[in-house]
Amino acid sequence: VFVSFEGGDGSGKTTQIGLLGDWFTRLGHEVVVTREPGGTTLGAELRRLVLHGEDMAPRTEALLYAADRAHHVSTVVRPALARGAVVVTDRYLDSSVAYQAGGRELGADEVENLSLWATGGLLPHVTVLLDLDPAVGVARVPGGLDRLERAGAAFHERTREAYLARAAAHPERIAVVDASLPVEDVHALVVAAVAEKLGI
Ligand code: C5P
Ligand code: MG
Repeated sequence: VFVSFEGGDGSGKTTQIGLLGDWFTRLGHEVVVTREPGGTTLGAELRRLVLHGEDMAPRTEALLYAADRAHHVSTVVRPALARGAVVVTDRYLDSSVAYQAGGRELGADEVENLSLWATGGLLPHVTVLLDLDPAVGVARVPGGLDRLERAGAAFHERTREAYLARAAAHPERIAVVDASLPVEDVHALVVAAVAEKLGI
């Protein structure tokens, strides 16, 4: 089973992934928790370039995320799925559609097709979108913001709208959860959504 978590900065993805991972572990599954960008050694270098390197064109950024995703899928995600593990990833291709297409205003179809090419067409069985007002999310992020997190309110609003549009277009895969609720309430909604989408 392949599960992705999506949402803006400070939406609580890391916390909810930990809780859902524990839930799958209690059911007796091997759980692999991973992330993009930066879920591999090569990916960590790509992450540093894209988040802390020099400013770059939107297309350059899109290609670096796609390169990270290609390597992540071929070296981490596919091998884990092949041995029957549950893979839970912090961000996947919907991040690219939200940030590079919505935020950076590249074409959504082009960005999606780039990602599908990079991954050989691998889609999650279920995607949890933790939806939150970006102003609330940014205020939750501890410490400094990276180059992209500093991008400004309009950028983050476009990203949120792109995520919600994507969820509306793919209701069979993407569940929208209100991330402004208390942690335990969000977790309960996440479990209900995942069980429903997976038919378990
Ligand atoms: O979720 P995480 O903080 O690890 O993401 C790192 C940064 O990369 C975030 O600021 C996020 O906004 C950005 N990002 C992006 N495009 C992606 C994935 C992440 O702009 N495809
Ligand atoms: Mg971040």
